[in-house]
Amino acid sequence: MNKLGVHAFVWTEGWTNNDAAKAIGLTAEAGYDLIEASAMDFGAFDVEFTRKVLEQNGLGVTLSFGLDSTQDVSSGDPARVRAGEQRLMDGVALARDIGATHVCGILYSAFQKYSVPPTPEGIKGSVDVVRRVGEKAKESGITLGMEVVNRYESNVLNTAAQAVEFVKRVSLPNVKVHLDCYHMNIEEADVAAAIRDTGNNLGYFHTGDSHRGYLGSGSIDFSKIFRALVAIDYQGPITFESFSSKVVGQPLEGILGIWRNLWEDSRDLATHAKAYTEVQLKSARESIANPGRSRLN
Ligand code: MN
Repeated sequence: MNKLGVHAFVWTEGWTNNDAAKAIGLTAEAGYDLIEASAMDFGAFDVEFTRKVLEQNGLGVTLSFGLDSTQDVSSGDPARVRAGEQRLMDGVALARDIGATHVCGILYSAFQKYSVPPTPEGIKGSVDVVRRVGEKAKESGITLGMEVVNRYESNVLNTAAQAVEFVKRVSLPNVKVHLDCYHMNIEEADVAAAIRDTGNNLGYFHTGDSHRGYLGSGSIDFSKIFRALVAIDYQGPITFESFSSKVVGQPLEGILGIWRNLWEDSRDLATHAKAYTEVQLKSARESIANPGRSRLN
């Protein structure tokens, strides 16, 4: 069964002890299995406190983050590649220390809008870094998810097919493709086909609607997406992502382009997303289960 999660930014932008206690407590109260913690600054995490509150609430955790332009492992510039590898290694260490099962996000390039395409040498450098970080993550049983994002957030992995090729080049069992239907809705010719073609390379999944507001209130056809996830027997985490200027300020509102306040009530948003996801998963499973029910006999 898929573990269902919610991104920490639904509750709070930071990870002070107060923020962590609030985000973890509300995630557990909404009935989720895990919280996806996210931080610009790893130093903000009080590891002992985070572990303790997660345990008290019986909640799992995953960690997502990105690299900035000075840490761009796809740049081909040795100093930036080294800085990026260090941040990725630090992120894996933090994930291990808080008990995270997955590290995901744009781990293969900077999180930014590029003005030129990547070079083959840059991509090779990124693959080599991700392989070393993946080997480190493997020691702690951590899976890395290479998040496929739209063209305005990276120039390396914009489609599921590119990510499948990337993880095949890395060639580690714990380095997987991370798909997000918000981004797929922008870039893929056929979202459901892209999920099916990713198959068992898929290791992490983000749900989010076309406007990143309430799940199911935008233009994305979720029944096709969940049927594809069930068809490939995807068993990994499904985490809901939604951003509002109600919670997120600079610098993230600038990077993510969050100019609108799409919701006020985090609790209502998260509770609804969990219910919506469960209904979609149940419907998708029923659509595929027991084909014999349609047989003439
Ligand atoms: Mn995402």
